[in-house]
Amino acid sequence: MNFENIIGNDNNKNLLNEIVKSNSVSHGYMFLGISGIGKFLFAKEFAKAILCDEKTGCNKCKSCIEFDSLNNPDFTVIEPEENSIKIEQIRKMNNKIYEKPIISKRKVYIINNADSMTLDAQNCLLKTLEEPPEYAVIILVGTNENIFLNTIRSRCVKINFNKIDDEELKSILINKYDYSNVSENMLKLFSGSLEKAINLKDKEDIYTEIEKIFNNIENVNIIDLLNNKETITKNKEEIMNILEYINVLFFDKLKQANNKNGYIKAIKIVEDTKDRIKKNANLDMTIDNLLMNVWETLNQ
Ligand SMILES: [Zn+2]
Repeated sequence: MNFENIIGNDNNKNLLNEIVKSNSVSHGYMFLGISGIGKFLFAKEFAKAILCDEKTGCNKCKSCIEFDSLNNPDFTVIEPEENSIKIEQIRKMNNKIYEKPIISKRKVYIINNADSMTLDAQNCLLKTLEEPPEYAVIILVGTNENIFLNTIRSRCVKINFNKIDDEELKSILINKYDYSNVSENMLKLFSGSLEKAINLKDKEDIYTEIEKIFNNIENVNIIDLLNNKETITKNKEEIMNILEYINVLFFDKLKQANNKNGYIKAIKIVEDTKDRIKKNANLDMTIDNLLMNVWETLNQ
């Protein structure tokens, strides 16, 4: 198996290699852990190896070649449609899975973001997990184990993925991804997710700006603060991450601040703002309110 491009979770690399080598593949797996730490990539490499004629992911057999060109008929990925995985999608899989594999000895389904399965979809999946055809393997990739029915959980081998250690992540970002510097607060925002860190790479400037504004919030007047509103509102697609980052900064302040109560309230205001934006509140107004309320709370 080729885990070269996947960082961290070395224990799981060894475990999956062993499973494939010893031919002790089960019918159901759950790959669990926070988002952005490579669970899906692991699942794909694992799938490729168990489909491979050589059981290695040799890159040379028909199964591997078709896999790499996204044409392997014995491999299917199911993704949420409009935020959830619906019963029709699982029903379709259930019908297909009983048709014998075409070029491989096995047939693999990855259900990505599987914790978005509706209850109906889960019940439907359960039928297959109860009596899977002997060549079938289903890998559920998700973040929250508790969402799944107990009856599904008990039929899957659970593999937990850990977040990448901050020091390791920092050195990867600087050495491999040209990050100039990675602050402690940035690491908190990434929370061990390489994917998140890579996505934020070209946006370092925004976060430096945000840090300047909010670290200084107790010393500015409200007019100056409101003048910075655009830094937040012009980056619409980034808004949730920005709000999350503001709270990273506030949590940091909370540690040394005299005004602990103020920061506790401010953190709550930011959380409420996130909720409001999720509910599609007017962005300009919501951020105005955020800035005014936070400023008032911290300058009493
Ligand atoms: Zn192969």
